Amino acid sequence: MRPDVWIPLLVLLSGATVARTLLVSARKLPATCARCGLRLERRALGEPVCRCGL
Ligand SMILES: [Zn+2]
Repeated sequence: MRPDVWIPLLVLLSGATVARTLLVSARKLPATCARCGLRLERRALGEPVCRCGL
């Protein structure tokens, strides 16, 4: 392939990867319960989660 074709494509792809990484790190802080402070959704097996609503 010609370099003037795949270089902009490569830049576009790496830009998308960076944008996705930023999105994921922005969501690193999960929603937590205001009463017990535990996460509302389990992310790992066995992790303590909020049971206030039960
Ligand atoms: Zn709770």
